[in-house]
Amino acid sequence: MPESTEMIRVEKLNKSFGDLHVLKDIDMTVRESDVVVLVGASGSGKSTLLRCLNFLEMKNSGTITIESEQIEKETHNLNKVREKVGMVFQHFNLFPHKTVLGNVIEAPIQVKGLSRNQAEEEGKELLDKVGLGDKYDVYPSTLSGGQKQRVAIARALAMKPDVMLFDEPTSALDPELVGEVLTTMKELAVEGMTMVVVTHEMGFAREVGDWVVYMHDGKIVETGRPSELFDHPKEERTKAFLSSIL
Ligand code: ADP
Ligand code: MG
Repeated sequence: MPESTEMIRVEKLNKSFGDLHVLKDIDMTVRESDVVVLVGASGSGKSTLLRCLNFLEMKNSGTITIESEQIEKETHNLNKVREKVGMVFQHFNLFPHKTVLGNVIEAPIQVKGLSRNQAEEEGKELLDKVGLGDKYDVYPSTLSGGQKQRVAIARALAMKPDVMLFDEPTSALDPELVGEVLTTMKELAVEGMTMVVVTHEMGFAREVGDWVVYMHDGKIVETGRPSELFDHPKEERTKAFLSSIL
């Protein structure tokens, strides 16, 4: 069987904020339809890595290759790259003065130049898909956190990205709302979406993850299949981390 397509390849990625060296020689590959779950303590660099992959932060050195193209800010239109790599944040950042559907159609119309009709048709389909088929016309303030996050997922999907990055998408939610968002993400994964997910939900990592990447202090300590990494971690660091959270 041929190896599946590489969607993201990161080599020797380094990122500092002033004197603070946050990402240290990160190497990582994400193949088509992979779900890669990034775990690690707070401050280990997970968000910074995702933000570098989406060019919200600019690396200091190393290479980031998206779908076979090495992306550099000098030579690439980063907005075009971001269309391929969608992102969902912990805080959903919905436009409060737009309806749910308005939030979802904004970028397809403004950025991709879709007609309103076309954007609405696709947006409704996405909202149906994330279980919000009865919420097109309401404002975000009337929604639960879980519903808002599902709108944010639909909004990211509306750009038809090839890869989706999730940065702790359930961390801001009341516990009873976490499941509905994880279910939506799992459905996406089952459909074959390529995903990189930062989460503390180890059940999700185990069940949905193809790979788990454990980061500590700006480095990747260990990468493995969920069952290997959780049940038979190789590195002492990983063992210590797992015993601190499980
Ligand atoms: P994680 O998501 O794993 O909690 P982050 O990537 O958010 O970790 O942060 C890694 C380190 O980088 C932390 O020490 C954090 O304080 C620092 N950091 C993150 N963003 C910035 C920034 N914009 N400016 C300065 N320091 C930052
Ligand atoms: Mg973070």
